[in-house]
Amino acid sequence: MSVEYHQLTTTEARELGAAGGVVVVPIGATEQHGPHLPLGTDFIMAHTVATRAAEQVEGVLVTPPIWTGFSPHHMQFAGTVSLRTNTLMAVIRDVAESLWHHGIRRILFLNGHGGNANMLGAAAQSLRFESQVRIAVASYWNFATEKIATWRQSPLGGINHACEMETSLMLAAHGEQVHAEKATNTPHVVSNPYLGNDLLGAGAVATPWDFTEITTDGTLGHPELATAERGEDLLTAITQGVVDFLSDFKNWDWQDPQTIIGRDDAR
Ligand SMILES: [Zn+2]
Repeated sequence: MSVEYHQLTTTEARELGAAGGVVVVPIGATEQHGPHLPLGTDFIMAHTVATRAAEQVEGVLVTPPIWTGFSPHHMQFAGTVSLRTNTLMAVIRDVAESLWHHGIRRILFLNGHGGNANMLGAAAQSLRFESQVRIAVASYWNFATEKIATWRQSPLGGINHACEMETSLMLAAHGEQVHAEKATNTPHVVSNPYLGNDLLGAGAVATPWDFTEITTDGTLGHPELATAERGEDLLTAITQGVVDFLSDFKNWDWQDPQTIIGRDDAR
């Protein structure tokens, strides 16, 4: 059976809400990913992970991906399409409120673009406390950070953008869209001890960069180390992490937070 939300009829959508169904909204970006990966990498991978996971958990559907995100830091590179902060947050809020309006009470925004993370968090806060709508938000790589730490071949600085991880995942799932021979070694070398330079190496201090300040070809990391075989290995681990979460999320009851966070002393 298809897991595509948009293939439902209105009758089936009404039943989905009544049956306690889960809806995953993949969200990414359309932005430069160096000379070797397609512009849509972030929403393509978010959608791929969401679909693979939903196929393994009954009662989970996946909407079409939100294809634009917050990408002003990539605008100096051709192909990038960016939403402003308020626009992106309004899109997230409106999609969530629409699903909620039709009785969907378990909504996960599965993110594939680091630049969206802050706005997803802020939108979730706004929904919860200004609209009484609850959503869960997560970036797909956060379901497999322990795996990534042992899976990687690059040192810190090798996983940042269009990097060892993203290129491997795309080779595994959409290899026909990857120009592997154009992947260049562009490690992100940060000498300031307060600033992070890697997916697994966040610094104590964050400050926005324009990508022209830190890379020449749009890549940050070691995409030349990527292989399809290792990509499939990592994609399997990430998917399993999302499957495990969705299996738990299905049973979340926002009306009774104790069933989610637990409090044994009260029972
Ligand atoms: Zn990306």
